[in-house]
Amino acid sequence: ALPVIYAITPTYTRPVQKAELTRLAHAFRQVPQFHWIVVEDSTVRTDLVSRFLAQCGVPYTHLHVFTPRRFKRAGMPRATEQRNLALGWLRQHRTRRDAGVVFFADDDNTYSLELFQEMRSTRGVSVWPVGFVGGRAYERPIVSGGRVVGWYTGWRPDRTFATDMAGFSVNLQVILANPRAQFKRRGSQPGMQESDFLKQITKVTELEPKANNCTRVLVWHTRTEKPHLGNETKHPKDTVLIEV
Ligand code: UDP
Ligand code: MN
Repeated sequence: ALPVIYAITPTYTRPVQKAELTRLAHAFRQVPQFHWIVVEDSTVRTDLVSRFLAQCGVPYTHLHVFTPRRFKRAGMPRATEQRNLALGWLRQHRTRRDAGVVFFADDDNTYSLELFQEMRSTRGVSVWPVGFVGGRAYERPIVSGGRVVGWYTGWRPDRTFATDMAGFSVNLQVILANPRAQFKRRGSQPGMQESDFLKQITKVTELEPKANNCTRVLVWHTRTEKPHLGNETKHPKDTVLIEV
């Protein structure tokens, strides 16, 4: 049987949330053996996300944890607590007998279906290029003789693992074998979350390059423009309450 792909998606309430989740679900529901771990940055599981997941056609687990207010500031890493909660869920609910691959799927990125075929064979930790990060059209691992030997990036090339959250996957057994590995707030500079996390579970020389030796972009770090809602306060107001 194929290993299950566990996609961990932190998400938070905002006008575009349902549209983002809809876009993701359209890709994810086409991927066989897929399990979506959606972690709301919220004090509760919201009705909007609960209803959405119940009808989206993707097997899922719905969790929530609210980011402490002191961490909700510009320049601070986002979704640390949400990703760690999902890792904790996997450690509690999956065992040595479960074949799986873990991937961090932010709710605003764009995912090609081919990406999931590539990551499915991850034995330890896989890496690949990501579009629109690092101040360049893409960032990518540089591969020589089938091994990662460096990073092509426009930002902080001194990072041990110069990759975005969307640029790697981890075998489930690696997550289980390293029970203390998690995303750090203490001592982690902005943009260093990925590198700090990967340092806890692998070495650069052990990385498995995917996407034709890291020469193809199969995921894009897209960001959604905020919709203009300035006229919402104007009268007349709609007479019905509609979920958007
Ligand atoms: N996110 C969250 N809480 C927040 C801000 C972001 O859960 O307060 C989630 C967001 O939905 C996304 C991920 O964290 O899945 C990364 O956030 P964002 O896409 O804003 O970061 P960037 O694109 O700047 O890396
Ligand atoms: Mn994003």
